Amino acid sequence: MKRAAEPGPGLRTLWALTWERGNGRRRLVVLGCLTSLLAPVFPLLQPLIVRDIVEGAGAERALLAPVLLLAAVTLSEAVFTGVQVYLLKRLAESTVVDTRQALIRRLLRLPVVEYDRRRLGDLISRLSTDTSLLRSVISNGVFDIISAVLLGAGSVVVLAFIDPLLLAVTLSSVLLAAVALWALMSSLRRISRTAQEHVGRMTAEFERALHGVRTIRVFDATEREYARVASRADDAYRAGLQLSRREAVVQPAVTTSIQIAIFMVLLVGGYRVSEGSMALGDLVAFLLYLFSVVLPLNQASRAITTVQVGLAAIDRSAEVLSIPTEQEAAEAARAAENASEARAALAGGRLRTAPAVITDDPGPHPLVEFRDVGFRYFGGPPVLSGTSFTVPRGSRTAVVGPSGGGKSTILALIARFYEPGSGTIRVDGQDIREMSHESLRARLSMVEQDAPVFAGSLRENLRLGAPDASEDALRSALRDVELGALLDHPDGLDRDLGDAGVVLSGGQRQRLAWARALLHDHELLLLDEPTSSVDAETEWSLQRLLSSCGIGTTTVMVAHRLATVVDSDQIIVLDGGGVAAVGTHESLLRDSPLYRTLAAYQGLVDDRTDPVR
Ligand code: ADP
Repeated sequence: MKRAAEPGPGLRTLWALTWERGNGRRRLVVLGCLTSLLAPVFPLLQPLIVRDIVEGAGAERALLAPVLLLAAVTLSEAVFTGVQVYLLKRLAESTVVDTRQALIRRLLRLPVVEYDRRRLGDLISRLSTDTSLLRSVISNGVFDIISAVLLGAGSVVVLAFIDPLLLAVTLSSVLLAAVALWALMSSLRRISRTAQEHVGRMTAEFERALHGVRTIRVFDATEREYARVASRADDAYRAGLQLSRREAVVQPAVTTSIQIAIFMVLLVGGYRVSEGSMALGDLVAFLLYLFSVVLPLNQASRAITTVQVGLAAIDRSAEVLSIPTEQEAAEAARAAENASEARAALAGGRLRTAPAVITDDPGPHPLVEFRDVGFRYFGGPPVLSGTSFTVPRGSRTAVVGPSGGGKSTILALIARFYEPGSGTIRVDGQDIREMSHESLRARLSMVEQDAPVFAGSLRENLRLGAPDASEDALRSALRDVELGALLDHPDGLDRDLGDAGVVLSGGQRQRLAWARALLHDHELLLLDEPTSSVDAETEWSLQRLLSSCGIGTTTVMVAHRLATVVDSDQIIVLDGGGVAAVGTHESLLRDSPLYRTLAAYQGLVDDRTDPVR
């Protein structure tokens, strides 16, 4: 929880969000500041006019002019406040939408490892809860404080003119209130940041619980899951309580010191009026100005709470906005590498002007090559070490091996979701670190094991990687993967798959993913257990499909069921973080004891030597 104690960049970020990021908003910021500067003018004028009225009434002077003036000032204040509220709300809404979009943009572009490291629900709560808090900072926080401070300062100046001695008497107790408020302010932000972190954690854990609600039900674990998520709510409650305890001390302190100030004015002022050393109008005006000092104090204490809570939320949004995107992280890594190469070259007595081009063996390159690749996930044990293999162009390669052996990791590394810790991965002879993520991925298609369905229509789901595919192409892709039945629905391709009521089976989702992958132009098709959710018959149809559509494409398929890969051109057997054997089904049955064991377990060989096929 160390971060929570650090002062965040709050106000600076607020400035960046409202001013620097929004050209179109600057007019609103300027107008907002102007109105906040002008707002105190009305309450500063009113007591002066009231004094004239009181004094005039005492002296039996004509009252019409000051009364009309008071009415005009009061009415203008109402109109002015209306305009100000609209301007500030508009500024707030515009900043919130912009910040939300910036967060969405960044949250979709983070390096994949960041999604492993962070809790998704927490990232989502930053987008929803935290940006709502940002809204209130702008619409009724910062500008209220500006107005309150100006009104308070202006009133003190006028009070000094009316009666400096009386002012000195009252100011001492008002100062007490100000000090108490200051004390509250300093701890508020830290505590509310902690509270928001607890809320983020609660959202994240709740999301997981909802995700696994069926398992929870079957295992009769609802109560335990409730207790876990509810305890996060308790954490937030405790932080809230800590805040309340402070407020419980500070708010009465503020109110009491304000009351004391008013009593003193009435006592001393009343005495002086009765004595004849002070005009009644002056006392009335003095009291009204005093309200202008103390009421803003109360208002400011609320505004300060809003601002401090909001600034803590802004800190959390800013934290996300400062995580480098995948592209920025790659560029920074490249720059650091170049710098260290230059340093090494200098140390070696020569300065290279351009990074050396690592030349490959001449001749045609394999489409994919792993050379001595070592990899571990963030904070985890090594998953791959010294892994080397090649995937010839046009081949169908399968990756098999015990579960947890790093098969899916190999696909993730080819797609450059993660950077290898050591060794190199080349695609078409080029180190993928020297390619942009986009240019690498433009050559790939992928079917994930847990094939996702996205919000939107069937058409949009299919066109994810092929925005220009024709309607005919979409229909024939659906038929190819035996999802033609989906077209029988009255809405056809327009059917909204994001609708709560539309539930595709695991097998349908997987086949939808095949269709999506086939529609996307690619040289290399990465398949992560693409048949884990389909029946044996559909499994065969995928094999047929890959043989017919996949001509010329290279495929790397992770497979648990060996029956799906027996026809592959090469099978890579992974074990203990490295490549245990490479070959065809037949050669592996002959040469690889591990493969033979796996095949025997899956009933592909009668005993451990004779192939069934
Ligand atoms: P396989 O596909 O062979 O079953 P994986 O490549 O999925 O194996 O996983 C290899 C190892 O890496 C496993 O021990 C797994 O727990 C770990 N692992 C996989 N994905 C992640 C991740 N995103 N973060 C941390 N560890 C992971």
